[in-house]
Amino acid sequence: MRNLTADDFSERRKEMVNVQLMCRDIYSEKVIGAFLAVKRELFLPEDSRKYAYEDFPVSIGFGQTISQPYIVALMTQAADVFERAKILEIGSGSGYQSAILEYMGADVYSVERIQGLKELAEQNCRKAGFTKVKFKLGDGSLGWTEHAPYDIVIVTAAAPHIPKKLMIQIKENGRIVIPVGDPAVQDLLLVRKINNNIVEEKICGCRFVPLIGEDAWER
Ligand code: SAH
Repeated sequence: MRNLTADDFSERRKEMVNVQLMCRDIYSEKVIGAFLAVKRELFLPEDSRKYAYEDFPVSIGFGQTISQPYIVALMTQAADVFERAKILEIGSGSGYQSAILEYMGADVYSVERIQGLKELAEQNCRKAGFTKVKFKLGDGSLGWTEHAPYDIVIVTAAAPHIPKKLMIQIKENGRIVIPVGDPAVQDLLLVRKINNNIVEEKICGCRFVPLIGEDAWER
């Protein structure tokens, strides 16, 4: 097969947004704008670029995967991202979700537990022109105290429960989007802190790689 050109990718990107996002339940114009703009092929390993706009998860090395575009869009829409929102992402992975959030005007802090992936996320974001995201190597189940409180926390790995410190590190009226369940299958939850009460809403069933850490799964 011939190599795909920038034009090919651009065509595929538009088709993905149309078929996988808009024909389903992604209606936020801000989210759609970001998915049209961010070049997902720049976040995938060379040999899987051809899958950049396919509707399935793709391996990014170190035993980790990047979710299909629809799941990233669904989480971003549920998070209700706004200009200058302070967002903590747990699980930098390829850096794609961080880039989407930066494109939407958020201030993004992203924690990753695997050194090689923290570096990959940084490199990919830089290559794609996203230079404002702050990355940190560490255990995201403990949050990132230094920059707390956050408007939004997005957890991109599956947790056994909502980590306590994340709940503490969100602002009043803040929200957490997080997959919670057992390692094989989870519920994607939107958790909101309203007048110090915690309100949980199930978005859908899902399957993520495990969140491994002190307040999550053991290695
Ligand atoms: N958001 C990423 C996808 C991440 S996949 C993207 O857009 O590409 C989930 C990531 O969570 C993996 O990179 C994994 O290493 C990381 N992870 C798992 N447990 C973690 C923890 N406790 N703290 C930080 N990152 C963690």
